Amino acid sequence: MTDPSTIPLQITGNRSDMPDSPDLSVAQAQQMIATLVKPIQDSETVSIHGALNRVLAADIISPINVPAHDNSAMDGFAFRAAELVKRSDSGHIRLKIVGSAYAGRPFQGSVAAGECVRINTGSVMPADCDTVIPLEATIDGSASSVNTEVSFTSDSIKSGANCRRAGEDLRAGSAALKRGKIIRPADLGLLASLGVAALPVQRRLRVAFFSTGDELRSIGEALDPGCVYDSNRYTLFGMLKRLDCDLLDLGVIKDKPAALETAFRHAAEHADVIITSGGVSHGGADYTRDVMAQLGQVAFWKINMRPGRPMAFGPIHSNGKSALLFGLPGNPVAVMITFYFMVRAALLHMMGADARPLPLLRVKSHDDIRKKLGRSEYQRGILSHDADGRQQVRITGAQGSGILRSMSEANCMVVLHEQQGNIAAGDEVDVVLFDGLI
Ligand code: AMP
Ligand code: MG
Repeated sequence: MTDPSTIPLQITGNRSDMPDSPDLSVAQAQQMIATLVKPIQDSETVSIHGALNRVLAADIISPINVPAHDNSAMDGFAFRAAELVKRSDSGHIRLKIVGSAYAGRPFQGSVAAGECVRINTGSVMPADCDTVIPLEATIDGSASSVNTEVSFTSDSIKSGANCRRAGEDLRAGSAALKRGKIIRPADLGLLASLGVAALPVQRRLRVAFFSTGDELRSIGEALDPGCVYDSNRYTLFGMLKRLDCDLLDLGVIKDKPAALETAFRHAAEHADVIITSGGVSHGGADYTRDVMAQLGQVAFWKINMRPGRPMAFGPIHSNGKSALLFGLPGNPVAVMITFYFMVRAALLHMMGADARPLPLLRVKSHDDIRKKLGRSEYQRGILSHDADGRQQVRITGAQGSGILRSMSEANCMVVLHEQQGNIAAGDEVDVVLFDGLI
């Protein structure tokens, strides 16, 4: 979909497309992907309701001060701080109540020396007043309208207390939200609080995806001997939807050169990104690898990770259009792991989003975990609390890369870094929570 001139054509670095070439580390592969991805430049304007999960294309400058006026942080009485030095012999300050300020109904009069105004939380501070004594800090403690005076001790309140200043949260003219922010519910509220009805967002990233394999059957088809239902297209659908991408589902493609070429060309002409699963390891469906290589500058990597070792990456071209290909392994768990650790950040970057590294949580491992030193490994975990209320993670039993059930039962991934060896029960490990993974 992209103009090919915008994609660097050479993949540099350690190409691992030879059977005996060394594996790339996870960090090297991530780094090489990062050098090739560029944010898309198109934007559009959407209404506030259509902005959820979209990526902001320009800073939102606040047209107003927030709060718009000085206002009270408490229910109480507003007065001038100068009163605090005028205490009586008893040490009490006594003020005459001259009116009330309610939310949406400011006090209109003026407040002279020795006077105060009954005020509710959020109400505009009367002119000249700068301090609020909370109800509970007064001596009679009553807001009753029959009271005509209020008294309190001068040491119960500081000058300027309980007064929220206009512009204290946000100054008119300053950036309320920055370009690249993914709009979440709190941001919708913030935008509404500024009176913003429409905003510029990045065009959605268009992602074409398909599964490859003669053994794959789609839902509704008979499961012939030796066949499996195609699940990868559904996990990919879910993960891509959560990233709010525009999706082009090209179905299951047989391991046949002509069918693969047609699918790749269609995808390159209609999408920014192509994600496939299967056919990237040696042996098996070599056609996928051949067709990928024939249509673009695709590197075949062996990444020193488990699951997810084989992966293809690079631009694919067709009829003057290009898209960036991520050829993921076929195993269902490997698809999810490579998506989260190799693809996700790249897609966010292309979406123009301010993509931060996944937050890692350090928790106690409930189990011994076997781990090969020098390789990055990802295990499915269930985060819970031990008897002392401390967070701990359990491994979800067998970790074969085809066991999708383990992914569904898990609520987090245990990230075992390259330099880690075996883990003993009680050791601390890093986990990434599934919730909020986009
Ligand atoms: P491959 O990388 O094509 O050799 O596939 C590796 C394993 O993953 C094989 O057991 C495939 O049957 C399985 N597999 C590949 N694609 C899918 C898919 N879309 N859904 C479920 N399993 C798959
Ligand atoms: Mg296959």
